[in-house]
Amino acid sequence: MSHVFPRNSNKLPPVGKVGAGVHLFDADGKAYFDGSGGAAVSCLGHGDQDVIDAIKSQLDSMAFAHTGFLSSDPAEALADLLVLHAPEGLEHVYFVSGGSEAVEAALKLARQYFVEIGQPQRSKIIARRQSYHGNTLGALAVGGNEWRRAQFAPLLIDVSHISPCYEYREKHDGETTFDFGQRMANELEDEILRLGADQVMAFIAEPVVGATMGAVPSVEGYFKRIREICDKYGVLLILDEVMCGMGRTGTLFAADQEDISPDICTIAKGLGAGYQPIGAMLCSGKIYHAIKDGSGFFQHGHTYVGHPTACAAGLAVVQKLTGGLVDQVASKGQQLTDMLNDAFGQNPLVGDIRGRGLFIGMEFVADRDTKAVLDPSHKFNARLKAAAFDAGLICYPMGGTIDGKHGDHVLLAPPFISEPHHFEEVVDKLGAAVAKVSADLGL
Ligand code: PLP
Repeated sequence: MSHVFPRNSNKLPPVGKVGAGVHLFDADGKAYFDGSGGAAVSCLGHGDQDVIDAIKSQLDSMAFAHTGFLSSDPAEALADLLVLHAPEGLEHVYFVSGGSEAVEAALKLARQYFVEIGQPQRSKIIARRQSYHGNTLGALAVGGNEWRRAQFAPLLIDVSHISPCYEYREKHDGETTFDFGQRMANELEDEILRLGADQVMAFIAEPVVGATMGAVPSVEGYFKRIREICDKYGVLLILDEVMCGMGRTGTLFAADQEDISPDICTIAKGLGAGYQPIGAMLCSGKIYHAIKDGSGFFQHGHTYVGHPTACAAGLAVVQKLTGGLVDQVASKGQQLTDMLNDAFGQNPLVGDIRGRGLFIGMEFVADRDTKAVLDPSHKFNARLKAAAFDAGLICYPMGGTIDGKHGDHVLLAPPFISEPHHFEEVVDKLGAAVAKVSADLGL
């Protein structure tokens, strides 16, 4: 009997033993293509010797120092490198151990900022439906995914949610893509006015929605309008790039493709690429100085903030990403998308293939014309995950929403080191899994 508390007590996963390049191997030696990079984590693949060496060397010199006493060379160098490549205006970096911690830090920083500048009444947060921002209570409260929130409601923070910018399902017939994006963004203005403009502290969104919707990018002009609205009402814009950041969409920061800068940005996952648990929150000079010149103390912190070994790993990862690897992501993503379109474009169960860079989603439907979602009792996503796993492919399927506003989907986020023959492996194995599940369900 395993004493590890599993995610799913009904089905214990095999024990992983070896990671090499784009593959993971279990205790029986079976190979799995890491088609989702874990949860969009393993951007460099497995066994990257440069990152391993950087970690070993940091362990030899100073494994850990509490940031309450000492900063460290890797933390300083990683912050410099991130700021060098970050959207304009993001000037300070706060290192944590993962994505939920980064989001918690972002929410608390936004709140403290308004207290410091004498607007303590600003405490309301607006997020989007069907979103996910982490599993700690604060991050869960801002997330708009009903299934994840349901059993923990009422949540601790009062958050309201607007529609996501989800072209496949929310765009009206005859509406231009641009007008659609403006309509979606204008929901933010309506919500700010409904809540009271001087009550709202922040709007949080993912530039490209990952886990809960399957790589849904916003349309052109959406985030520019969001930025305008936030500026008009003095609301902070928090972009959550925990999943879509660190090169996943083809630029180091996904916000770069929206041509805007947030006030706060969260990153994690690809930052440590799975070699160490690390996340970060970047903020503007305006916010940093409000706190520095005010109480002088961000009232937040965990024991492992700025962990030197995690920062050493992150530094080696970001050096690789910015040293040419991210430049390959857009074209590799296009290759994989083209191959998916060739293989599944005519499949009656596949309603949409979308994404950006190596962050690609496929949404499954019962009917392509009406976009009707599959019967939830089919548990299509769970079956697909199991069938893909049997075929030797790790992918990231999710169920649709209960209200039928979103179908089952699969998210692909392979390592950036993947080559075309690896994509053939992904498409073949996914094809076998989709065929098996369709046949089993008689679809
Ligand atoms: N934010 C987003 C957008 C995520 O996708 C996730 C995780 O999937 C998180 C936050 C939480 O990150 P973590 O699981 O590292 O706490």
